[in-house]
Formats: sequence, structure tokens, C-alpha cells
Amino acid sequence: MIRQMVKDFADKEIRPHVMEWDESQEFPVPLFKKAGELGLMGVLVPQEYGGSGLGYFEYVTVLKEIGRVCGSIGLSVAAHNSLCTGHILQFGNEEQKKRWLPKLATAEWIGAWGLTEQNTGSDAGGMLTTAVEDGDQYILNGSKNFITHGKSGDIATVIVRTGEKGDSHGMTAFVVEKGTPGFSAGKKENKLGMRASETTELIFDNCRVPKENLLGKVGEGFVQAMKVLDGGRISIAALSLGIAQGAYDVALKYSKEREQFGRPISSFQAIAFKLADMATEIEAAELLTMQAADLKNRGKKVTKESSFAKYYASEVAVRASTEAVQIFGGYGYTKDFPAEKFYRDSKLCTIGEGTSEIQKLVIAREVLNN
Ligand SMILES: Cc1cc2nc3c(=O)[nH]c(=O)nc-3n(C[C@H](O)[C@H](O)[C@H](O)COP(=O)(O)OP(=O)(O)OC[C@H]3O[C@@H](n4cnc5c(N)ncnc54)[C@H](O)[C@@H]3O)c2cc1C
Repeated sequence: MIRQMVKDFADKEIRPHVMEWDESQEFPVPLFKKAGELGLMGVLVPQEYGGSGLGYFEYVTVLKEIGRVCGSIGLSVAAHNSLCTGHILQFGNEEQKKRWLPKLATAEWIGAWGLTEQNTGSDAGGMLTTAVEDGDQYILNGSKNFITHGKSGDIATVIVRTGEKGDSHGMTAFVVEKGTPGFSAGKKENKLGMRASETTELIFDNCRVPKENLLGKVGEGFVQAMKVLDGGRISIAALSLGIAQGAYDVALKYSKEREQFGRPISSFQAIAFKLADMATEIEAAELLTMQAADLKNRGKKVTKESSFAKYYASEVAVRASTEAVQIFGGYGYTKDFPAEKFYRDSKLCTIGEGTSEIQKLVIAREVLNN
């Protein structure tokens, strides 16, 4: 039922606008309000805080079905649910959850999450943005880079330095609301793909944040962020799965319709084998993603399995969408056909929330230490 509901939503509300939003790089805020009405912006949030109270299987289904139609919208839904909302859900106290989760789960507010800085992406622990205690407030200074919903977001969960550089316990998470003096958005990125998902800088200029906006304890921010990413990586795996499936769907259909040498191109083994590889890899990616989702549902440690899923599914999305363009031939290289957008969008999946190289580092660490 959830799959059908999301599919109907994506077909009716997203599909007709995909290229228009992509071309104009428009982040369609009203669409997210509609997604909120359907419960898609607080999938994992318990009903007592205004969410849908569902589990990771349903969450993977939601992101797969959206990603199948538009990667950008899928990325934004994933960032809102897993990162900003997920961080408050996991580490906020009761008062903080009651204050922010109902607004986020219904999409009355759109959420952003800021870890990355200009000089510290994979090496996020080296961040330079600081928070200095001053009475019952903290004063934030610095900037965050590549932040999804940095401008349109109504609220951001940010991880900043409260201790020494290089100390993994020297960082703390805060919630900053839009309109707080000294908090603003900077440059908006002009991107290869995921163009309808807004990506901007966040700037903190003597931004005073009350102590009651601190999540958990001082010094826990980096460890919290790594736990948030364990779940977030399942969402990027699910999004990758959707993009791979979307690319496969259009390539399969086209291969049966397009004729060369008097026969459908699907009858050439070279094309049929591409489809066979795509189908096999998508199935394997789905199983890895569902394995991670199952562990997460059962409250088990999921670091290795979510990296397995994110690493594999994102690489599959790139391979499947590359082959989809190839199956479409010259038409695949034009914007009149959907393959090129899957191809452009897919690449983000091997970069955001930890690159493929970083996933391999995580997996290697897990494998070698156990
Ligand atoms: C569209 C988009 C949306 C994003 N949204 C958010 C968001 O909402 N919030 C947020 O905080 N961040 C966000 N990011 C940032 C994203 O998480 C980072 O871009 C990513 O973690 C990589 O960091 P980097 O770009 O600085 O690359 P770098 O860390 O500079 O990496 C460059 C290359 O070096 C490799 N590399 C780095 N270190 C190692 C190593 N130790 N071993 C081997 N290889 C290594 C990388 O794999 C990569 O190939 C977003 C990025 C994009 C593009």
C-alpha cells in the first residue's frame, strides 16, 4: 500500500515537472508540503511526535519509489528525514523532540543538516566552525558547505567545534532556527545533477544559539553524526536503488521498441546482457539495502551493513544509468529522453554521506577489527 501510494504521488506530483525543475534548479517547496501531508517527511518519526511511525523497510520503499522518478526529490526527502529530523529524533531530549519533530514530520518546516565544511568533507572531524560558551548561549562562527536545504530550510542541525581541533570529542550538535541573527545562507551550488535539490553554504557570523538548542551533551557531536550517518547511508542506498531501477525501467522498455537492422535492439545479445547485468546488480543492491534496514529495525549495529549497502547500491546506480544511456544510443545523450538525468543524478550517490572510498575505509575497519 505504501509503495502504491508513493508511486501514485511520484507519478502525479513529480514526474510531470522533473525536467522543468532540473533545468531551472528549482527546489519545489510546495511539493514537500504535499509530501508532508502524506507522511513522507516524517517516515520514521513516532506518531506521538506527528510522524508516520514506520520502520526502515517502509522508508527504503518510499525513497526507492521517489528516486525511480526523480533523484533530486529523493535526495531532499532523504536529507530531511534521515539527517536533520533523524538527528533530533535520536539525540534530542523530550522537550526538544516535542518542540521540533511535529513541525518537521509534517513539513511545516524543512530541515537541513550541516557537517561538511569547505576544507573538511571526508575528514569532517577537522572542522573549523566554532561554538563558544557565553552565559546561557553559544556563539557560532564559521561556515558549512554543500548543505541540502541551506537556504530554504527552516531549521538546521549543525555540528561545530567546541573543543580542540583533532579531538573527536571536541564537537557538539546544535539546532539553529532560521531567522536567528547571524545565521544565513551563502552561495547556492550549480550542480551536474540533483539540480532540484537545493545545495548551499551556511554562514554563522556571531550567531547566538540558546543552550537549550544543544543536542545531547557537549563533545558528543561527532559521535552522534557518525551514528546519524549509519542510518543516512541506508537512505542513500535506497535512493540509489530507485535511480538504478528507474534507469533500468526506461532502458528495458526502449530496448524492446527501438529497432535496428530490422529487429528490436533487445534481441542483440550485447544489449540483452547489459539488461541482465543491470537486473542482477539491482537485485543484489536491494538485498543489501534490506539487510541493513532489517538490522536497523531491530536496533542492531549497522555500520558495516549500511556501508555495504551504500557503497554497492550507489556504484550500481552509476553503472545502471551509464548503461541506460548506452542502450538509448544518441537519444540517451539528449534531454528529450530520461536516461541522461538518471546518469547525472546517480553520481552524487557515490559522493554524498561518505564517498565510495570512505565506505571502503569503514568496511575495511569493520572487517579488520572483528
Ligand atoms: C549535492 C550534495 C549534497 C550534500 N548535502 C550535504 C548535507 O546536507 N550536509 C552535509 O554536511 N554535507 C553534504 N554534502 C557534502 C558531502 O557529504 C561531501 O561532499 C562528501 O562527504 C565528500 O567530501 P568532499 O566533497 O570535501 O570531498 P573530499 O573529502 O575532498 O574528497 C575528495 C576525494 O578524495 C577521496 N578521499 C578523501 N579522503 C580519503 C581517504 N582517507 N582515503 C581515500 N580517499 C579519500 C574522496 O573519496 C574523494 O574521491 C553534500 C554534497 C553534495 C555534492
